[in-house]
Amino acid sequence: MERRPYNFSAGPAALPEEVLRQAAAEMLDWHGSGMGVMEMSHRGREFGAIIAQAEADLRELLAVPAHFKVLFMQGGGIGENAIVPLNLSRGGVVDFVVTGSWSAKSYKEAQRYCEARLAASNESDKHTSLPSPAQWRLSPEASYVHICSNETIHGVEFHELPDLAALGSRAPLVIDCSSHILSRPIDWSRVGLAFAGAQKNIGPAGLTIVIVREDLLGHALPVCPSAFDYRIVADNGSMYNTPPTYAIYIAGLVFQWLKRQGGVAEMERRAVAKAALLYGHIDGSGYYVNNVAPGCRSRMNVPFFLPDDRLNEAFLAGAKERGLLQLKGHKSVGGMRASLYNAMPVEGVQALVDYMREFAAAHG
Ligand code: PMP
Repeated sequence: MERRPYNFSAGPAALPEEVLRQAAAEMLDWHGSGMGVMEMSHRGREFGAIIAQAEADLRELLAVPAHFKVLFMQGGGIGENAIVPLNLSRGGVVDFVVTGSWSAKSYKEAQRYCEARLAASNESDKHTSLPSPAQWRLSPEASYVHICSNETIHGVEFHELPDLAALGSRAPLVIDCSSHILSRPIDWSRVGLAFAGAQKNIGPAGLTIVIVREDLLGHALPVCPSAFDYRIVADNGSMYNTPPTYAIYIAGLVFQWLKRQGGVAEMERRAVAKAALLYGHIDGSGYYVNNVAPGCRSRMNVPFFLPDDRLNEAFLAGAKERGLLQLKGHKSVGGMRASLYNAMPVEGVQALVDYMREFAAAHG
């Protein structure tokens, strides 16, 4: 059978082929129940088993401690930009570290619910570096500190989470890890809340994962919608309202696939190898350019530029012919972007590098 094209989309993004085939096989009849997952009551025994297994596998994969709740929500990362301050800010001060478009959006949205302060920013160098945590202007009274641990558009990643306690802060750290969740371990001793839209490294759009320390629950502002109050969601096992059942099912299949592959440690090993292959080629090419400081280059999202923007269309057309899809860069940055999530095999990155070499030779 001919291979499927390699899909470099930043999200919604490629899923493991095994998972798609299993979902197809189970579409009409899940495990002899006579129902497809989309047709099941979320309160039935069958879906109860699906969500319980998904949570258990996610906890195992990310080594989530018992004093953290795992919530399956809706609203995406942009929804969480409001939901987090509604739940955690208490209407007071919150510190934001802006390192790219996504944290900038979080900072702006939070201003509607709390006193959002800019603790640090890399805007002056066009989001190509990370401000050192020792330089952050943290507010002693902050309810939390927000970072985006992987900036999907600018390709900037925290390779180590800041240790706020070591910086003299008692505030919990909130991380938007939408675009690198499950590609590396999370140091929970440094995190109060992690959120991630599912559509990059987990499954279909429509599901948002929130992992939150229990002591942070129960402080929602009175205006917070009940369906977005973490305490209510947690107390109802993510079923206060109807959860995105099919997306949770697919996420569960991805978690099982990840466990078969060797878990997060193996995903991290592969991510390091894939990123090294692509950045190595870019830097050595004398043709392509990535502007992000080497110490904070994202393993997941690799923006790169051709020497002349007028070649972009030809590059994309040639890529498509070779089964290399969705490489166009975000409109705010331009150029190209290759997203190398867990479902991207190293063979896909090798195929991209081979094509890049061929293109440069033909157009150099
Ligand atoms: N945060 C990050 C890091 C993202 O990459 C994205 C989506 N690209 C979002 C937030 C927003 O997600 P959504 O569109 O699902 O709200």
